[in-house]
Amino acid sequence: MITGQTKVFALFGDPVLHSLSPVMQNKAFAFHGLPCCYVPFRVRKEDLQTAVAAIRALGLGGVNVTIPHKEQVISYLDEVDREARLIGAVNTILNQNGRLIGYNTDGAGFLLSLRAEADFAPEGKHVVVLGAGGGARAVAFALALEGARTLRIFNRNPERAQALAGDLHRATGCDVEAGALREDLLSAALARADLLVHASPVGMYPHHDEAPLVDPCLLRPGLVVCDLVYNPPRTRLLKEAAARGCRVVGGIGMLVHQGALAFEIWTGLQAPVAIMRAVVEESLRNSA
Ligand code: NAP
Repeated sequence: MITGQTKVFALFGDPVLHSLSPVMQNKAFAFHGLPCCYVPFRVRKEDLQTAVAAIRALGLGGVNVTIPHKEQVISYLDEVDREARLIGAVNTILNQNGRLIGYNTDGAGFLLSLRAEADFAPEGKHVVVLGAGGGARAVAFALALEGARTLRIFNRNPERAQALAGDLHRATGCDVEAGALREDLLSAALARADLLVHASPVGMYPHHDEAPLVDPCLLRPGLVVCDLVYNPPRTRLLKEAAARGCRVVGGIGMLVHQGALAFEIWTGLQAPVAIMRAVVEESLRNSA
């Protein structure tokens, strides 16, 4: 129930129509009996600065930021934490008595899902990442900061992969190489990889039958394969990988954990992760 005491939290993005964050965060507020609500706002690029000023003006408790604003929003904040600054993107804002502090919970959410679903710790491991966009960037920084031994980044546009590799190497000293999505390069990198992360929209609903970026013949038992795509929860890549004896991790875990970490930053309370996951899975089933 909305009362005079309700604290409002929000999502800023464009589009926001299909976001699962509102159901997930409202469920978490309800679980703790908090007088809070979470609403999505479609914010156009040219309105972002005004929208951020409204966080202070309206006394919003906090905000999630999604495509296409995660990078631009940094210039409107009072403070940005170290990991978000390194990644160059913010997905969570805390309004601390009018002081706006930016965080990035995507990378930490990804690591938590890897640990929970595949018992995977990145330290000393060899990693291959497919894609070099916002998701790949958060994941690659999280893995490098967590002590991954090597990162090999492949992207349709190899220059973008090289730019990410350069940023990663300068910031973390990690052994990073980048290249185009070529089968010979992928084959060599996957031969010694412990983890493969797919971070492009290929295979996402409604294009769920699209061929994966990597030939499944290159996947072998022992490899952990993680797809950031969460709709469908089990992509064609994950099905092919599981059939070849790989351990597989879908994108729902990262989505839920990044939201849970945002909830904890805003409230200081432990997020009800299992309940948040259940409501996300239910929403995906209902939309299918
Ligand atoms: P983004 O910033 O737009 O980057 C898209 C990446 O995918 C780029 O590297 C792009 O390559 C590549 N790509 C796009 N279409 C491609 C195609 N047809 N063939 C080959 N490469 C292609 O997007 P993003 O935010 O990183 O998101 C990527 C995916 O991860 C989306 O499905 C998103 O839903 C998912 N994601 C999930 C979570 C989660 O919480 N589970 C979090 C973040 C992202 P170019 O550079 O060559 O264009």
